[in-house]
Amino acid sequence: MSRTLAITNQKGGVGKTTTSVNLAASLGAAKRRVLLIDLDPQANATMGSGIDKRALAATVYQVLIGSHDVASVRLRAPSGQYDVLPANRELAGAEVEMVELERREVRLKEALESVAGEYDFILIDCPPALNLLTLNGLTAADAVMIPMQCEYYALEGLSDLVSTVKKVRAHLNPRLEIEGLLRTMYDPRNTLAQQVSAQLVQHFGDKVYRTVIPRNIRLAEAPSHGVPVLEYDKASKGAQAYLALAGEMLNRTAQAEQVS
Ligand code: ATP
Ligand code: MG
Repeated sequence: MSRTLAITNQKGGVGKTTTSVNLAASLGAAKRRVLLIDLDPQANATMGSGIDKRALAATVYQVLIGSHDVASVRLRAPSGQYDVLPANRELAGAEVEMVELERREVRLKEALESVAGEYDFILIDCPPALNLLTLNGLTAADAVMIPMQCEYYALEGLSDLVSTVKKVRAHLNPRLEIEGLLRTMYDPRNTLAQQVSAQLVQHFGDKVYRTVIPRNIRLAEAPSHGVPVLEYDKASKGAQAYLALAGEMLNRTAQAEQVS
């Protein structure tokens, strides 16, 4: 059965897209079948996967408004072992158009039903906002993965996000869980980062991934070459961290399956 994860944080620039692309590539390298959905009009996950957003005939936008199905829009990432449901700027208009549509929060969820059996993991890269696109992501997901930087306001933003998850659970998607919190762009020499990180573990315990993503220039460079970091510099600390994250996720899933 496929597991669908929304990679989300309403705060901008915390590493959502970097995590989406590199986790997709790392799970793909571990022979899992992965679909990466770009739900952000910025289309960074699309471009970062080596797909030119300007050359697309159809995107997730057409899937959301119901004129295309997922199978006719998805593409294989040219340099990674995963599929991409791409986006471009047109997606910004979906917000407005979907307001008119029926069952507007469940459109992505319903569209994914036809392909769910083809994937082990579906990863959704959400935009930095709590808008209708993000709500579609949260409604389609089994769980949320929350990338965050360990800085002063991070915990405050997190409590907003946790209350959003609770609201979505109450109204739209009763199965939505918090899969895990991921510390990104981590600098172990920074005392504040250490403190926030410790508080995070105190509050959220096992929900915090043991794997920490370090600040690593290779992670920032790879998108300009349109490849996941695994392809760009496999030996880099960034690539190794995302491989470790994929390993940790797979271990957790295996353990959960043993228990149930
Ligand atoms: P947005 O909210 O705009 O969608 P985001 O949460 O998706 O942003 P990213 O685009 O992944 O965040 O990252 C923001 C910037 O930080 C990018 O330039 C990215 O290359 C860089 N970056 C992300 N993670 C790391 C890291 N671990 N080390 C160094 N740079 C990073
Ligand atoms: Mg992003």
